[in-house]
Amino acid sequence: MILPYLETTEPGFADSAADTFVIHEHGVGLRILCGPCPRCSAPIDIPLFQETVKGTRSHPSTATSGIETVMCTCQEPHEGRPEGRVGCGAYWNFLL
Ligand SMILES: [Zn+2]
Ligand SMILES: [Zn+2]
Repeated sequence: MILPYLETTEPGFADSAADTFVIHEHGVGLRILCGPCPRCSAPIDIPLFQETVKGTRSHPSTATSGIETVMCTCQEPHEGRPEGRVGCGAYWNFLL
């Protein structure tokens, strides 16, 4: 069954992603979140760019932890997806 593309979020997305996603470190400033999409179950990689790397050091509140809004980036087909887009439309907050 193919899920239709739908930009949507549910509290359960964040919960299941917190359990199943892992963070891979790729050198300075790049981390990649890997895991199954909580909506369409496709294995996805989501690059996280740390803003602290290119920002100034005058804002210590921009720590390496926080909440990142991530979107599904799967390559599988989803009905109704806009041209040139990826993913099923699911997005959620990931607590870093
Ligand atoms: Zn998805
Ligand atoms: Zn998908």
